[in-house]
Amino acid sequence: MVKGLSHIVYIASSDELFQNTLEFYKAFGFKVLTAPNQAEKSEKSEENGKEAWLKMEANEHIMTSNITIRLLLNISCVPKNKPDSDQDWGLNESALALSVFDVATVKSQLDILGCSYQDRSIKSFSGTFQLIEIYCLDPLNNTIIFSNKPAFPSLLETPLTGPGSAEEAAENLGPKRKIGVLTSGGDAPGMNACVRAVVRYGISKGCEVYAVYEGYQGLVDNGIKKMDWKSVRGYLSVGGTTIGTARCMPFKTREGRLQAAENLIKSGIDSLIVCGGDGSLTGADVFRSEWSGLTSELLENERITEEEAQSYTSLTIVGLVGSIDNDMSSTDITIGAVTSLHRICESVDSIGTTALSHSRAFVIEVMGRHCGWLALAAGIATGADFVFIPERPPAGDDWKDTLCSVAERHRRLGKRKTVVIVAEGALDRNLDPIKAKDIKNILTDRLGLDTRVTTLGHTQRGGAPAAFDRILATIQSVAAVDAVLRSTPETPSPMIGMSNNQVTSGPLMKAVELTHEVAKAIGEKNFARAMELRDPQFAEEYLAYNATTILDDNSMLVPAHRRLRVGIINVGAPAGGMNAASRTAVRYALNRGHTPFAILNGFPGLAAGSIEELTWIGVDGWTSRGGSELGTTRAVPGEAVDMGMIAYQLQKFNIQSLLVVGGFEAFSSVINLEAARSKYPSLCIPIALISATVSNNVPGTDFSLGSDTALNAIVDSCDAIVQSARSSRRRVFVVEVQGGRSGYLAVEAGLASGASTIYIPEEGVNLSRLQSDSRHLMAMYMDDAADKSEGRIILRNETVSKTYTTDVISDILKDEGHALFDSRTAVLGHIQQGVNPSPMDRIRATRLAKCSIDFFEEHTSLALEKAFEDNEEAPISLTTIPESAAVVGVSGVDVTYRSVKELINVTDMKNRKPLDAWWMSHRPLVDLLSGRGLFTPEAQATLTRNQAEN
Ligand code: ADP
Repeated sequence: MVKGLSHIVYIASSDELFQNTLEFYKAFGFKVLTAPNQAEKSEKSEENGKEAWLKMEANEHIMTSNITIRLLLNISCVPKNKPDSDQDWGLNESALALSVFDVATVKSQLDILGCSYQDRSIKSFSGTFQLIEIYCLDPLNNTIIFSNKPAFPSLLETPLTGPGSAEEAAENLGPKRKIGVLTSGGDAPGMNACVRAVVRYGISKGCEVYAVYEGYQGLVDNGIKKMDWKSVRGYLSVGGTTIGTARCMPFKTREGRLQAAENLIKSGIDSLIVCGGDGSLTGADVFRSEWSGLTSELLENERITEEEAQSYTSLTIVGLVGSIDNDMSSTDITIGAVTSLHRICESVDSIGTTALSHSRAFVIEVMGRHCGWLALAAGIATGADFVFIPERPPAGDDWKDTLCSVAERHRRLGKRKTVVIVAEGALDRNLDPIKAKDIKNILTDRLGLDTRVTTLGHTQRGGAPAAFDRILATIQSVAAVDAVLRSTPETPSPMIGMSNNQVTSGPLMKAVELTHEVAKAIGEKNFARAMELRDPQFAEEYLAYNATTILDDNSMLVPAHRRLRVGIINVGAPAGGMNAASRTAVRYALNRGHTPFAILNGFPGLAAGSIEELTWIGVDGWTSRGGSELGTTRAVPGEAVDMGMIAYQLQKFNIQSLLVVGGFEAFSSVINLEAARSKYPSLCIPIALISATVSNNVPGTDFSLGSDTALNAIVDSCDAIVQSARSSRRRVFVVEVQGGRSGYLAVEAGLASGASTIYIPEEGVNLSRLQSDSRHLMAMYMDDAADKSEGRIILRNETVSKTYTTDVISDILKDEGHALFDSRTAVLGHIQQGVNPSPMDRIRATRLAKCSIDFFEEHTSLALEKAFEDNEEAPISLTTIPESAAVVGVSGVDVTYRSVKELINVTDMKNRKPLDAWWMSHRPLVDLLSGRGLFTPEAQATLTRNQAEN
């Protein structure tokens, strides 16, 4: 059997039925095997004394291969009722589907056996009827469908010999790797996604994968279990770690590691993938470095044989960083941190409403003993008034004064709530801890604020992983398996990280050393070094947070002649993060001395002169709000809106910089505005576009605002759908997602929700694809335990095909599924915009909005300085260079400014998306991890080899 695809269990309630069933299947070519492992026999079958395994191999009559039936005798089992003969047996809840070359031969066989059956024929072009399917019942009243359609396309499509064949792939595989995977240290959401991806990708690469339960404790206690494809089903959506984690003192001793080495060797494991924090990864490296000493000692003490010592001369270690604190150096982000941030933001948002109602102050303590990432990111994402982190004590001699002046200023500006976020390891300049209760006392005593403390504690670890962590864990784990396969005894243990939105692999011990250096730098009061050792974005975000939140004290004002009137407009459909962008742009612009204006209801609003000044307090609370507070429409100037009116209103209100936040219509708008500059001087102002659309289809940025919120909304919906299906029946849901002509949402949500497959415009969909997918689904359902309902989902992009609509695809799958499964549709529609923007969208919005204001200053400085020197008024036309009409986006960790004129060359304007899509590299993983990879030549080779070995 292919690993992961096991067998079907049938239970006979009498000896006679047991024998008849055995004979029945033998008559169709099944061979009787001895039970594979007598020791594993359940008590029940022992009691009843009978068990038989029947296996079907492809032969000259049957196309289907590798079906195994486990037949048990259990007299207490209730026999299945025979379905009515006037009922269509093809619609029976479950069925065994067998593909045969000639259905007519089967019919004769059934006549000989005297079995009742139903048949289905179709009329051919010549007018004759052709028999295509037969539905019959075995002696236990299980339905069997004999059909002339191939059930396992890829098995058949894979040539048995020659190029690309299973045989060739088997030869290329080299010795089979046996990989152990363990999760260790503090649990982190996404660890399960790691285990799932290591198991499935490992199997697809011809490896055997073993789960080590309870972290290193499982190595010491031999808690090692071989995993198959199905062992990790449902793992993606579950937080924590299902295989367990523990702090293991024995592993810190040589004796413990000696025992661990013995257990690994006895299990045949040569590689370990460890997902944990710096402690766990240090432990792994220590283990590897003393491996040869451990094996020598085991040999000396005759705990392993000479042959075993020869076979296990080295141990491969690959590290994955699972840590909610994002505290590891050499990686931009760790598995679990983003989900934890989700939990924090949900809590702070909830606390915000009660704080607002009572005009209270809240001090919220979050995790992070040596790392302030969670506190800082949460501060940005929730618009907190102040944050305390370990790496950078507050400016000024006395943090209490600084805190009070900021909180008091914000109150004077009209705020009814004060929120302070403090990392549990926050320190002052003298390295004295800053504790939540100290902050509370200060706010109460000095400012008279009704202040409460909330310690979020373990809520931060819990809950379903965010889409980001599922994807991160999946792609990193795939890289970890690849690293195992590439490894040699000489290569240092790698740690899989993330840099610039790319998966990286670097020396594990170097990363651990750098991580320890942060704590050391803090201990030496070298705070600049501590910040430097974090990822580059961390320092930038810290500055951005201060510039937009703390420094509203007139300390950042630009000279009067450089101050601008900044217009902010939303275009296109609402997207999570639009309001956060407006809020930061307003607050930062005010801190710099500019005057921000809201342009209401998009370009039609601008044409109508709907412009009003925005105030500091007017945007309070916008960070966490979904939708568009400014109002948004799709109309594009120069198309649906008159360009002359736009130019007129910009001139009338003397708008000197324009921040456009929106999707592809916003991109088209900026192109048209830039092109019309030669006609209208008032358009000769800097124009920044922050992409905001769930579809993530605007060029010039890796991510658009709203796309992360949408992914989370889709993934949450898919989790609910799968749960419902699993509880009731075998059902496939065809879920329609947005994305326009871009498959981004379907690919990323497909990866994060474990979709069986996806249909995206980049690939299209046709009948043969649907046929192959229905066969794949049949294979999966046939492999499920007989008494299990399983929910599966397929994501279909809304524009993938006019013919194969969501309903049509669902109907085809249902029909082709031969009653093995049912199918339903779910059109998620505007639910995908989400309610509250995700933390990632809020943080991206904040960063890009601040950078946009900097961009405006840069592109107006020349003209304004010249006018100032010449003692003249600021000109209407401030800039004409194409670079001053740009998409302000993210590329990896950097903020980039790319002119729309340049971006047209890399854009498919007709299909409204960039020509290049970085996320397409994730596409093959969706199918592979859902099981289609089982049928690749390599997997076939593994299958061939396993069969030979067994
Ligand atoms: P984290 O991985 O989250 O940093 P810990 O520091 O608690 O968590 O480490 C988890 C486990 O890793 C420990 O319980 C121990 O078994 C193992 N470990 C940590 N440091 C070492 C070490 N220096 N040598 C051997 N094992 C270690």
